[in-house]
Amino acid sequence: MTLCLILPKIKNNMQKRTLGKTGWEISVIGLGSIKLPLISRKECEILLNTAIDGGINFVDTADCYGDSEEKIGLALERRRKEFYLCTKIDERDGIGVRKKLERCLRRLRTDWIDLILFHDLRGSEYDPIFHTGGLETLERARKQGKILEIGISIHNSLPMMRKAIESGVFSVLMVAYSAFDEDRLAADLLPMAHRMGVGLVAMKPLAGGRLAESPSLPGHKGFIRGESLAQVSIRYVLSNQNITCAIPGMTGLYELDENLQVGRQARELTMEEIKALMECVGEAGKGFCRSCGYCLPCPEGIPIPDIFRFESYHDRYNLKEWAREQYQSLGVHADACSGCEQCMEHCPYGVAIPEKLKLAHRILY
Ligand code: SF4
Ligand code: SF4
Repeated sequence: MTLCLILPKIKNNMQKRTLGKTGWEISVIGLGSIKLPLISRKECEILLNTAIDGGINFVDTADCYGDSEEKIGLALERRRKEFYLCTKIDERDGIGVRKKLERCLRRLRTDWIDLILFHDLRGSEYDPIFHTGGLETLERARKQGKILEIGISIHNSLPMMRKAIESGVFSVLMVAYSAFDEDRLAADLLPMAHRMGVGLVAMKPLAGGRLAESPSLPGHKGFIRGESLAQVSIRYVLSNQNITCAIPGMTGLYELDENLQVGRQARELTMEEIKALMECVGEAGKGFCRSCGYCLPCPEGIPIPDIFRFESYHDRYNLKEWAREQYQSLGVHADACSGCEQCMEHCPYGVAIPEKLKLAHRILY
């Protein structure tokens, strides 16, 4: 991280939107912390404090993001009332949820968490949160003032997202949403969530960094109107008014500054700009798994998008141990692939699924 970069003191005119029925006014740019394990404590302290000074008031983390919770706790303990804190837990049952919640509170050095999410629900994990005590435990914690709101994050199951919205139980739904996901979620699910007062937070607005890989450095002339591909991509996500907040992962002040500019200077993308972005997305997206799930079901029961996601957590975010654990806990692994290629007929994005599965298995097993 470039520590010597001093951000200019700009008047804080960060745009805000209301987070569903919570009524909270949230900055349209939140701080995603999946990459905090990649930087030092000192760098985190500078990054996080500069983010809060810059008008960001939503900080997102997860129990499984390495030492991210500890770093946030250390950096922002004294500023706890200046931002909404969101974390996520992988447990589904009462005992597991209680233990994890206590650990989150300890690591984050706080008496309360504003928003806690059941993290990354997949397969048959939805019903157990209702029947094995997970939800009940969080509701009890809410009555005790340890948490204020309960939400859920779902990566690729549209039926599960629909169920969660319709349940009326969750205040917030966190979805992976970027220019890559335009057609999948925008038409139906996002407006429905918005209508029902479920706040929508867009994780992976840069598709796990895929939309940030064009030159985005000081001196670079930019992708459109002097802005980087990352900035235009976040503008695109925020142009969907159903989304309250996008939470790009950040590790440095340059990225933060770019994101703050987007949040402070709202502007609509023109049709020409959207067209240019879509062309670029088409190029960047060749062979890239969007977690859409169109390739499912696989006759061997392989959870294809989950495996590719674990691979990307392993490679891009350096969450190696967590990614391996998640992979190894799957009931069916990538080596069950028979090579029938049925999945490839359904993948609209040209992912070489059997080949990529072999690679993922080598890395994760
Ligand atoms: S090629 Fe492999 S992953 Fe794809 S459907 Fe066949 S068995 Fe499943
Ligand atoms: S492999 Fe293709 S169809 Fe399957 S989840 Fe990824 S992008 Fe979607």
